[in-house]
Amino acid sequence: MNADRQNGISPPAVRNRRLRWWLPVLIFTLLLAITLFLLSLSSTHESSQTQEQLITDSLWVRQAIQYQLERNAETLQLLAHDIDAQLLDKPVVLARLEAFMRNTRDAMWVAYVNADFTPIVSVGRDGRDGASTTAWLPEEEFSTVRSVLEKGRAAGRVFYGNPYQAAWGSGLSVYAPKPSPDAGAKAEKRSARGRLLVCVYAMNRILDENVPWWFAKDHEVTLADFNENVRGTRAVSGPGRNVYTHQTVLELPGVSLLLRTNSLKGAPSLVPNALRGSIAVLTALLLLSLYALWRDIKRRVHAEEMLLDEAAFRKAVGDSVVTGLRARDLGGRVTYVNPAFCRMVGYSEADLIGKTPPMVYWAPEYTHEYEQRMATIFAGTVSEHAFETVFLRAGGERFPVMIYEAPLRDAHGKQTGWMSSIVDVSEQKQAEESMRMQQERLQNVARLTTMGEIASSLAHELNQPLAAITSYLTGSLNMLKDGGASTAEIQSTLEKANQQAQRAGQVIRRVHDYVRKQEPQRTSLALSELVQDCLPLVDLQARNTGVRVATEVSEDLPRVIADPVLLQQVLLNITRNAIEAMASADPVHKRLEIHARSEDNDTLRINVRDYGAGIPEDLRDKLFSSFFTTKAEGMGMGLNICRSIIEAHGGRLWFENFADGTAFCIQLPCLPPAAEE
Ligand code: ADP
Repeated sequence: MNADRQNGISPPAVRNRRLRWWLPVLIFTLLLAITLFLLSLSSTHESSQTQEQLITDSLWVRQAIQYQLERNAETLQLLAHDIDAQLLDKPVVLARLEAFMRNTRDAMWVAYVNADFTPIVSVGRDGRDGASTTAWLPEEEFSTVRSVLEKGRAAGRVFYGNPYQAAWGSGLSVYAPKPSPDAGAKAEKRSARGRLLVCVYAMNRILDENVPWWFAKDHEVTLADFNENVRGTRAVSGPGRNVYTHQTVLELPGVSLLLRTNSLKGAPSLVPNALRGSIAVLTALLLLSLYALWRDIKRRVHAEEMLLDEAAFRKAVGDSVVTGLRARDLGGRVTYVNPAFCRMVGYSEADLIGKTPPMVYWAPEYTHEYEQRMATIFAGTVSEHAFETVFLRAGGERFPVMIYEAPLRDAHGKQTGWMSSIVDVSEQKQAEESMRMQQERLQNVARLTTMGEIASSLAHELNQPLAAITSYLTGSLNMLKDGGASTAEIQSTLEKANQQAQRAGQVIRRVHDYVRKQEPQRTSLALSELVQDCLPLVDLQARNTGVRVATEVSEDLPRVIADPVLLQQVLLNITRNAIEAMASADPVHKRLEIHARSEDNDTLRINVRDYGAGIPEDLRDKLFSSFFTTKAEGMGMGLNICRSIIEAHGGRLWFENFADGTAFCIQLPCLPPAAEE
């Protein structure tokens, strides 16, 4: 959240990002719930339809059984009527009963009996195989039939008895006939005789004959008495599954039976199963893909957050650096500037972004240079080195800048533009300038110091020509006063005085040249001349301390490009050090050697060798440091300044130690012979 705030992401954006993940989950859950609901609805619908169908079919079956039994009863009643009305003989009755048995396949036994229930004629079916027999019922079975006959006779109508258990299965006995109304008195008379017709049904056969095959193949059908004892069953395709069941009452005169149907359809049908299965598989797949999606989104969100953090971090870096940053696309259009760059040039971000050259911060006189530079950069030949130029501030002030260019690349490494870092070097330049002036001043001071040291020698040196001049002039005046001297003699004396004055003037001019403060100027110069110019001043010091000076500088050395005054300063400093180092040496060994020679085609070398005290080992490292001196009145800046002067000329200054002294060596680059004047 903190990172989000830092990145400037508002809370609604975070909410949206969460929604992006929760929305599919919600939709998926809803979809699953609706699918399951529809599935259960269809399943309920299917089961209620099946149930309704079962009820309709069961009622239809009940109707069919009822109808069939009624028809059978009517047939028996007709037969009874016929027997009564036509006084049929026993064989005829037998034939009619046999015909009845043939047509009524669910009947097991039919009999014509006397009023006392003794047999007259009977036709039976032998077990279930259907063979006809005239056998009488076994006594215990007939006793049941008898009770039906009694109850039927009492009721005076068709009468069914309770089902009973027989050897061949469950039986249902029926007393059928009722006196025919049109039988008249004869019928009354006959019936008074009380002869009766009775029939026994096999409960199983009632079902076999009356339940149609199309119903029987899908259902188990049973007939039970009111005590729930199953008396007849038809289960062609096996027992029912107790899922879809129906029970209805089969009302018969004298008895009520329960007709039960139990459907074989129980287990859910194939289609819902397949549907459920495919929904389960689809759900699993969907969950899997949701999980993958979730992981992907999580990874992306994480990457996005990292990216935003990174962007925020980079922005913070870009905003906080003092270096100006500017990005340009391949067409030179500015795509990014940081606050430091805006401050530097004095324009706002809006003034710069999207702009193409020429830019507002280009100084008109440098336009050509900028364009050339841009052409080089966009040609892809950018150098790693900084490029120095001048920019224009909004206020019109020009300021020097250093520009570093680097290619900008996208995620695929393809270059999309250039990134430049721009450093305002005004202060650096000012610092360099003041440093340079400081150095110059220091050199000047050093020169004056050296001069101060040789001032007494100088006074002594000037004293001689001045004394000579004075004596030559006094002599000339005397000659003029006496009047004895010729003009030629006076002229010769005055010329000598003139020579002495010129000699003194030369010394003064050298000193003046040396101490005069002037801007460093480099010219092509010959070393021999330089050494010659220095020699009078070196000699001045050397003579005072009894040091002999030996020079070995050939005239034909290559020329060097240098500032003569600065090089003289170096030579004088080194020779003065050398002379001072020999202060306490044996006068025999006091010797200063100045050698200059060409090292190779490129360099010249000047050696200043003394036979003095040498440099103790522990001081060697500090020799060139500022303010290092071993002298009571030394400044310790001489060698330091000498080295910076020589290095500024592209050369080197160092020393070599010998057992009997030291040599200071100067190496300077020289002009190739062809370039010499
Ligand atoms: P300064 O002459 O004011 O002391 P320099 O920088 O010229 O300053 O010299 C620094 C020191 O180096 C000197 O004090 C001296 O001890 C030592 N030095 C310079 N040249 C020689 C030399 N030729 N022989 C021995 N010591 C030297």
